[in-house]
Amino acid sequence: MSLLKVGSLSAEKGTKTQGFVTVMDTDTVIPVTLVNGCEEGKTVLITGGVHSCEYAGIQTAIELAKEIQPEDIKGRLIICHPLNKNGFEARRPSIVPEDGKNLNRVFPGNKNGTLADKIAYMQVNEFQNQADFYIDMHGGEAHEQLTPYVYYVGNSTEEAVEIARNAASVMDCKYMVRSGATTGAYNYCGLQGTPSILMERGCMGIWDREIVDLYKKDVHNILIHLGLMKGPMLQTQHKAKDLVDLIYLNSDVAGCWYPSVDAGDEVKEGQKLGEIRDYFSNLLAIYYAEYDGVVLYRASALWVDKDSNIFCYGKPE
Ligand SMILES: [Zn+2]
Repeated sequence: MSLLKVGSLSAEKGTKTQGFVTVMDTDTVIPVTLVNGCEEGKTVLITGGVHSCEYAGIQTAIELAKEIQPEDIKGRLIICHPLNKNGFEARRPSIVPEDGKNLNRVFPGNKNGTLADKIAYMQVNEFQNQADFYIDMHGGEAHEQLTPYVYYVGNSTEEAVEIARNAASVMDCKYMVRSGATTGAYNYCGLQGTPSILMERGCMGIWDREIVDLYKKDVHNILIHLGLMKGPMLQTQHKAKDLVDLIYLNSDVAGCWYPSVDAGDEVKEGQKLGEIRDYFSNLLAIYYAEYDGVVLYRASALWVDKDSNIFCYGKPE
């Protein structure tokens, strides 16, 4: 396993290579860094910017790509920073501008499809298929407010779920969630039997030094936990607890959205979560919590479409 190769980029053992990988049959490229450690070990894939305006994850990936050197790791790192470069440059939240598709909803992709399908296909067949572990760094889109938390794959082998959960528990945040989904880059990776996690930190188009430093600490600790970097682990504030029975609340109507609670808040059964009103302030819909729980994220945009996700909350186990 001496040579690490992705598309036209390659890194010999003990070297680092940075450059652009072209998405098949297109002029779209992905900025990629390959770090091939001096010692052999696991291969870890790290992506930022599957969602194009989740800046905390993107900047963290950019800084990790610059800072981590072959002598720092035992094993190999593939870092995409960001995966959806076109969406990032167009400042279009969540989608690949050329086809309007949410990249995280088209995995495993299609080599004969539109650009989003091709990026996903390439991510699976060039990046994921080499990985022993996958870390996907998100961070609440421009229209979402969230509290930091982490998903670990739930639809995979028992062993992969356990490995993913143990790694997720290293993130410095209060909550983690076993994913029941089969869509998304990391969930597809899990379906193939590879442990993977999706981290959420930052939101609403904001990134700053503090958020990125916390995010880098999360990744460093996970790489130490996985045996790629040497310890000791950097000190953390929180120990993540599992949240279960998540409710992803969608709007019944389009309108102006007025939330009553924030991400990270605890809510009681029956407590008002928010309401939707029209342009004349007439009440269109009102939402209440179904159980005592914790808000992971909510829409922060003033406008919400019908059937759009406005709230996500879960129950401490
Ligand atoms: Zn995201």
